[in-house]
Amino acid sequence: MDTSELVEQAHTAVQRYGVTDGESFRLKDHDPADTGALSGKDKPRAQEMLAEGIRVLSEMQDTLYAQNRWSILLIFQAMDAAGKDGVIKHVMSGVNPQGCDVHPFKAPTHQELDHDFMWRCSRALPSRGKIGIFNRSYYEEVLVVRVHEGILRTQQLPPSLVTDGIWDQRLKDIRSYERYLSRNGTVIRKFFLNVSREEQRRRFLERIENPSKNWKFNEADVAERAHWSDYMKAYEAAIRATATPEAPWFVVPADNKWFTRLVVAGVVIDTLASLSLKYPVLDPVRQAKLAAARQSLLSER
Ligand code: ATP
Ligand code: MG
Repeated sequence: MDTSELVEQAHTAVQRYGVTDGESFRLKDHDPADTGALSGKDKPRAQEMLAEGIRVLSEMQDTLYAQNRWSILLIFQAMDAAGKDGVIKHVMSGVNPQGCDVHPFKAPTHQELDHDFMWRCSRALPSRGKIGIFNRSYYEEVLVVRVHEGILRTQQLPPSLVTDGIWDQRLKDIRSYERYLSRNGTVIRKFFLNVSREEQRRRFLERIENPSKNWKFNEADVAERAHWSDYMKAYEAAIRATATPEAPWFVVPADNKWFTRLVVAGVVIDTLASLSLKYPVLDPVRQAKLAAARQSLLSER
């Protein structure tokens, strides 16, 4: 398959997972076990397509970096064991590490809590020409913090600002912030890896039963399952409020890891392809300098 064919296929395949207008979004319309037009027996073909996609991605990233105009921000949000780490590792495996930064966001430190909630994420935004990956993000402020309201009390906010309207305010602020970023050349794509509760249970059991996966197991994650429906409500509210054409969400089925990776790679390829990236063409002055340098090098012999 040549590159343009792959780009076209990626474009068609990922459309159904994109949410650009949150108003009509309902999580229940999205099946975590969906595998699109593929089935389990297509897995080897899917793996070949992913390998090809990774190669194309690497070429595109090279032009993104050389052009030095756009920056790409990829945000990953999900319940535990949905496969964020694996997706990031596989999909970005072909890209030049110099052009890509990954930032995980865990529970905030004391220093971070002494600032507004965007502060730590703003500092980690990708510069022009780069791809920045947020493994969790400022969305945690309307997800985990919303599910466990007690966390709000640890956030050092002036009490008069902590009202019932805080979630709506945060969602509006996030939406405006993303519009601001996009107007400055940051291309934002947000991924919700949509794993089912049952598949999460299977993956936790696998972490317990397989010694090489024991290190990934965290018993607090099991307790967190009790809040599943609150999390789903918080995700739905967040996607409804912040899915826009300039910062769309992709609700990626995550019960089959091979499919999740294919969709995410497809979205990244489609995003870069939409920018019509080209290597910079030098102006006549620079071209003349290039010619002079060439002459000088040739005359050394
Ligand atoms: P993994 O488990 O694969 O290592 P992870 O992203 O789950 O990856 P953990 O260290 O297990 O990493 O968890 C990070 C925790 O930090 C999550 O439970 C997340 O909800 C929490 N967290 C992230 N941002 C915030 C925030 N702003 N406020 C409170 N908790 C947060
Ligand atoms: Mg975790």
